[in-house]
Amino acid sequence: MSSAPASLNPAQMQAVHHLSGPCLVLAGAGSGKTRVITHKIARLLQDDPQAGLSPKQIAAITFTNKAAAEMRERAKALVGGRAAKDLVICTFHALGVRLLREDGAALGLKPQFSILDADDVLGILRDAGGTTDAKIARGWQWNISLWKNQGLTPAQAEAAAKSDDERIAARVMLKYQERLDAYQAVDFDDLISLPVVLLERHPEVREKWQQKLRHVLVDEYQDTNAQQYELLKLLVGDGSQRPAMFTAVGDDDQSIYGWRGATIDNLKRLPQEYPQLKVIPLEQNYRSTGNILKAANHVIAANPKIFEKKLWSEYGDGEPVRVVECDGEDHEAERAVARIQSLRAQGGAGAGAVGGQGVEWKDFAILYRANHQARVFEQALRKAQIPYKVSGGQSFFDRAEIRDLCAWLRLLVNQDDDPAFLRAVTTPKRGIGHQTLGALGEFAGKWKVSLFEALFSESLGSALSKKAIDSLHEFGRYVNDLEHRARATAGAEDAKPLLMGWLKDIGYEQHLFDSEDSEKLAASRWSNVLDFIDWIAKRCGGEITNEGGSFESEKKSVLEVAQSISVIISLAERGDDQNVLTLSTLHAAKGLEWPHVVLASINEGLLPFRSDATDEAPAAAIAQRIEEERRLMYVGITRARSTLAVSWLKRRKRGRETIAGMPSRFIAEMKLDENTVREDPREKLKKLRAEFAERAAVSAAAAAAAQKVA
Ligand code: ATP
Ligand code: MG
Repeated sequence: MSSAPASLNPAQMQAVHHLSGPCLVLAGAGSGKTRVITHKIARLLQDDPQAGLSPKQIAAITFTNKAAAEMRERAKALVGGRAAKDLVICTFHALGVRLLREDGAALGLKPQFSILDADDVLGILRDAGGTTDAKIARGWQWNISLWKNQGLTPAQAEAAAKSDDERIAARVMLKYQERLDAYQAVDFDDLISLPVVLLERHPEVREKWQQKLRHVLVDEYQDTNAQQYELLKLLVGDGSQRPAMFTAVGDDDQSIYGWRGATIDNLKRLPQEYPQLKVIPLEQNYRSTGNILKAANHVIAANPKIFEKKLWSEYGDGEPVRVVECDGEDHEAERAVARIQSLRAQGGAGAGAVGGQGVEWKDFAILYRANHQARVFEQALRKAQIPYKVSGGQSFFDRAEIRDLCAWLRLLVNQDDDPAFLRAVTTPKRGIGHQTLGALGEFAGKWKVSLFEALFSESLGSALSKKAIDSLHEFGRYVNDLEHRARATAGAEDAKPLLMGWLKDIGYEQHLFDSEDSEKLAASRWSNVLDFIDWIAKRCGGEITNEGGSFESEKKSVLEVAQSISVIISLAERGDDQNVLTLSTLHAAKGLEWPHVVLASINEGLLPFRSDATDEAPAAAIAQRIEEERRLMYVGITRARSTLAVSWLKRRKRGRETIAGMPSRFIAEMKLDENTVREDPREKLKKLRAEFAERAAVSAAAAAAAQKVA
């Protein structure tokens, strides 16, 4: 792979050794920004008057849990396992969980508050807004999330609302927020905005955290949103009392989360709000060959520049970038697989940035715009028996059976979590029907208590039959008892029997076989469940650290592990470093690199993406959207080290129909010259065959004509 792991160029060195104040590394893809962060961690740990921090005083913030795990590995290689274990390396969200669990009481939050996932949020919104229409509820969810990311309260949101629909959403937000408070639950956006409020309102808490975390490093800074910026500012101070100690690294050309509220303003604000900020550019790319880099630079040149950046590579031109024309989705998948098989058989074409011999499955990635595009590739890969993983798509944790069990675990952690209560009490079915639950809900609403609390109320008898109450009590007692036992466990040895006993008690295996027509499917779901149980047990054993805000490696109780589960299910990709090919969305590929990359379905309408809704947007909004899509293309191209193929579809599916496909404008923007685009051999063959056929036909016709004349 790359040269000596410890080497840094002079500019990287400068960033690593700047310890007197805040520092921003603003540089293009593959220039070693993430490398600067890991090396700076090592520098901060060095025992001298300028540095000399302990691992616990250093926080490195990454964009995903997976990136955090990877960074911890890289740090481990530099500073050793013991120090690496104590470093705070996590996402903004996981750090938020940590702040709230420790100090959320100042905001009236119980330490064991629940974290709602997107499904729970939708359920509550439908209820609070009185709609059964999922599309409407999702619209509200979208608005509310953006408002929360701007730090707006429901009242401020209503004032800021620009349409009747938005005004309605703001009113629903108020009700939604009331429910969350009552349930002692928070959503993902709260994991950032509540810590901001906490640190703003409570100077003593702020001081404590500023003392605790002495240097904060942020990777992928261009994708932070306004609230994350506030959180960072509160954690490091405004620089007026003492120098703010942080190192941020980012690339404005890779900002691809504008649609979720990330703002490039954060890059502009930094030098204004921190005049002492040292801005360091990096210009050498250590990732890609010249041809790949050239294509990337050409594409991004079509966007207006905010910050001037240069990027060059010492590696030779390398293999030409290939553009592959495909008949349709299946054909595209087949060709990608064929290409990958042939590259692997050749042992890797063109050394370029990738030295050494032998190509493994993990050296390949197929990247696409949207999750649903993975399916065809999965099928083709299975057929070819190539091992793969899907990242950034439907993960293991999104499966219904896993969500069922998570609802139970959440209920153990927080009995006031009504959505979890409803899911657990009905999965598996235990003779508690809709009517009973409806009446219980009404009762709880009237007395403003949670469903679980209502269940044990003395006056419930007026609302429900004795039989219904008995079943509810039985369920309630079981949950209490299980909670009690889960709290008393320590380590994997305790966890496993408790968890298996629980599945048996609730009859979950039977439930799967009863509810699934196909036995094979039920068996596969049950095996997922067993995987999940093993995974929790492993966490209880302290083997996995740094996910969902837990950083230690001591033995834990099942209850403690359950506390961190919600945040993990939605944020974590299952981290496995097996030797498998990667299927990923472009978004989830950010920050990563592979020797061989295929960018799939690079068509007009897919990348840049277009929908009817976007067509109606004002011209300025459309232009901005295209710019963000172009950055996504830039991110895609720059993931490749050695070879890059870009494929597009001549015919593509849209819903049920098949429509004609056009290559994306971004393919033209790569400005591949004659030498860079090499025609696909199969395509060439096809052309030759066609030519032969034509010539044969012509000569046959000529022969026939000659015969006639004769
Ligand atoms: P991105 O913008 O995609 O996040 P990045 O700027 O964070 O990229 P890194 O991932 O840190 O870049 O580095 C890209 C590759 O270059 C890695 O394989 C890294 O090990 C290598 N690299 C970085 N700096 C050097 C260096 N000074 N010498 C040798 N290799 C380097
Ligand atoms: Mg990086």
